[in-house]
Amino acid sequence: MGGGACCRFDLFDHRLYATLGELALLGRTQPADPSRLTRNRCPYQQGPRCLARENRPLGCRVFFCREEPDTLNDGIYEESHRRIRQLHERHNLPYAYVELISALKILREFCR
Ligand code: SF4
Repeated sequence: MGGGACCRFDLFDHRLYATLGELALLGRTQPADPSRLTRNRCPYQQGPRCLARENRPLGCRVFFCREEPDTLNDGIYEESHRRIRQLHERHNLPYAYVELISALKILREFCR
């Protein structure tokens, strides 16, 4: 499976997690289609493309749709996540690690 298939979480049957800082960064991009959230699909995807490429969370950067999960480089993820956590501390940002689609649904409700 490829071509952005892993951004359609309902079909790919997995979840993406991000920190609050990553969520804030992602929010700098205008979503392509917010209604995709109702189907548990990323609203930043347009066709096979990610419109938030510059602002996408770490999980999007290290996960490749075409590869088996056990080929993921957990070491790179863990080290990069540790640095993101340090950025939260350095800038006095509250830290939480949240499931992306649920968080975006909540934000959408409160920002109407
Ligand atoms: S932010 Fe981009 S790469 Fe990440 S799930 Fe959404 S469309 Fe896919």
